[in-house]
Amino acid sequence: MPDLTGKTALVTGSVQGIGFAIAKAVASAGARVALHGLPNDPKADTAVQAMLDAGAAQARYFAADISDPDQIDGLMAEVADWGGVDILVNNAGIQHPAPIADVPRATWNAIIAVNLSACFHTMQAVMPEMEKRGYGRVINIASVQGLIGSIHKAPYVSAKHGLVGLSKVAALEYARSGSKAKGGVTVNCICPGWTETELIGPQIEARAQQIGGDRDAAIADLLSEKQPTCRTSDPAEMGALALWLCDPVAHNVTGTQIPVDGGWTAQ
Ligand code: NAD
Repeated sequence: MPDLTGKTALVTGSVQGIGFAIAKAVASAGARVALHGLPNDPKADTAVQAMLDAGAAQARYFAADISDPDQIDGLMAEVADWGGVDILVNNAGIQHPAPIADVPRATWNAIIAVNLSACFHTMQAVMPEMEKRGYGRVINIASVQGLIGSIHKAPYVSAKHGLVGLSKVAALEYARSGSKAKGGVTVNCICPGWTETELIGPQIEARAQQIGGDRDAAIADLLSEKQPTCRTSDPAEMGALALWLCDPVAHNVTGTQIPVDGGWTAQ
């Protein structure tokens, strides 16, 4: 496990799900953890305490609706005042499945704003400082939907493919920053398949209704269609991978898309 003492990690959308698990993983390595979520999230205080219990040097909750670029500017200024960002995890994301013909324009705009544009704004704010320090990690939580398409997910698939492209460009622009010893500045995408969080709840419920089964039957049906291992991932598994990417030993792992999808995209 890398020693992240003295490093600060900002994880967007981190009071629950994959973001919470990644924040907890970097906390366990001694990082200062900037948790983030929507204003007035009732889970914020518990999440901060969970970081301290896991070993974080410090933990604080920063509230901002990142569909609004002005609120992102405020968020990034507050975190800069708190000590800057060595590790940026763009995790917050939303999804509203519907056929293209039925996607409201507001839904398209919201998904592109949160799942893609917000990542650009946060990266733009922190990457020049990472370059000066010679160490930086940007870990963008894309999806298998950043690598392949699925019906009824046009805005989500578009945003995640965009995030993969944005990450490649950033990886190239910052490739020469830092050194092997310091760890360099790297940019990578983690591309999860089915992972047990609230995000996939509506899709599980819809499938349960479709097949007339319970939650377990719906998950088994969804997995058998796409994920060859027929096992879901736990958010903590994304945390373990993200933590490894933070190690200086991963200095030459940049510009990648790492699927954690049970073989979905190998087909
Ligand atoms: P989740 O719904 O449990 O967590 C998402 C978090 O983002 C929530 O805490 C939510 O409050 C926050 N968020 C959403 N919109 C926001 C906004 N405008 N401003 C501030 N915070 C906002 O979902 P999750 O499954 O943990 O998803 C995390 C990431 O992983 C997402 O980017 C998602 O697309 C990706 N992903 C998830 C799966 C999966 O199967 N769960 C698969 C592939 C990719």
